Amino acid sequence: MDMSFSPEDQQFRAEVRQFLVERLPSRLSEKVRLQQELTKAEIEEWHAVLNERGWLAGNWPKEFGGAGWTAIQRHIFEEESATAFAPRVLPFGIAMLGPVLQKFGSKEQQETFLPRILNGQDWWCQGYSEPGAGSDLASLKTSAVPDGEHYVVNGQKTWTTLGQHANWIFCLVRTRTDGKPQEGISFLLIDMNTPGITVRPIMLLDGTPEVNEVFFDDVRVPVENLVGKENEGWTYAKYLLTHERTNIAGVGFATAGLSSLKRIARGQVANGKPLIENPVFAARIAEVEIELMAMATTNLRLLAQAAAGQVPGAESSMLKLKGTQIRQSINDLTRRAVGPWALTFPSEGIEGANENTVPGPDEAAGATRAYLNNRKLSIYGGSSEVQRSIIAKQILGL
Ligand SMILES: Cc1cc2nc3c(=O)[nH]c(=O)nc-3n(C[C@H](O)[C@H](O)[C@H](O)COP(=O)(O)OP(=O)(O)OC[C@H]3O[C@@H](n4cnc5c(N)ncnc54)[C@H](O)[C@@H]3O)c2cc1C
Repeated sequence: MDMSFSPEDQQFRAEVRQFLVERLPSRLSEKVRLQQELTKAEIEEWHAVLNERGWLAGNWPKEFGGAGWTAIQRHIFEEESATAFAPRVLPFGIAMLGPVLQKFGSKEQQETFLPRILNGQDWWCQGYSEPGAGSDLASLKTSAVPDGEHYVVNGQKTWTTLGQHANWIFCLVRTRTDGKPQEGISFLLIDMNTPGITVRPIMLLDGTPEVNEVFFDDVRVPVENLVGKENEGWTYAKYLLTHERTNIAGVGFATAGLSSLKRIARGQVANGKPLIENPVFAARIAEVEIELMAMATTNLRLLAQAAAGQVPGAESSMLKLKGTQIRQSINDLTRRAVGPWALTFPSEGIEGANENTVPGPDEAAGATRAYLNNRKLSIYGGSSEVQRSIIAKQILGL
């Protein structure tokens, strides 16, 4: 198996690097480096820059306005973007819904929605989880009952990331209650401005309203907003989840986080010496760096397999689990490295950090915020416990 980058890939990497130097505003990269929250306008600004270059949807085929990159090119783009502290591309329209519409959507749905994802006209959110349906997603209860040219939707979604900014939500809804739970689910596109929808913020540990509850009360949705066939939504939902799992290892994010950690540890002093020279702290950094190098190699191995036409299977659970552990360890060490300055969090600390009025290193408030916020990594996209079960059964054969 050839795990080295081809001359074309190296050339592509140089092109991406040059683009980031020229087009990534330092205003945005500075906020990402300090782990501060980006506004809706800032996220849209970066999407627009990428779209202008034709690079917003690296995973989409060219016929739909995407860049048509290989898995290796996407990996290179994500790695370079993370290292340059570029904002991440939001996954909901580009990585999740786009591929579903391209494979299962009607021509009208493709022509209506795909261009609007690219030009930023629509902001999508994901309506899968419910209060009683997370890991066991098939037990979802939000109902859609046909009524003439509409479905009438009632129920509740939860943990809806950035739903407060969204004007559309793609939802899994129950259209049949008999038979196997998986066989009564449909995939529906819902305009968030329809009467009967209420969005209520949930405050996360870090004090930000990143997720929401979304309530549906007799919401009338035109039947043409059904994707594919009624009661076959589970197939589309699973297809979407395989796309949700691209870049699951987060090698680029971890590499960028590790270099920030080392910079902070060089600047902090413990017992008269830079913290990075403290043997215990240095050993902790080395431990996480070794784990990261091992994961990066596994990631490349799987990318090489994908390039050779193999579909990634249960191995993506290894990447999810390891990637989560490594990023959470880096967050933990960064928080420890800034020591008491980490207390400059909460939100007024973050706002203060924007104006450079908080004492201590400028990364301090963001370090705590990231530590608290990234607890989510071991929950969403399949919790760590669920990943361990997949690895145990499908890889270890237990
Ligand atoms: C920050 C954040 C953002 C999110 N964004 C979205 C979003 O935009 N859209 C969306 O639809 N959803 C979103 N989610 C929801 C996410 O997908 C679910 O939280 C996740 O699937 C877990 O479901 P749950 O929270 O209901 O927990 P549960 O499934 O109830 O799990 C509770 C605990 O039990 C464990 N557990 C459950 N089943 C098993 C099992 N079979 N074996 C062993 N242990 C098990 C879990 O690991 C966990 O520790 C988000 C979640 C978070 C935290």
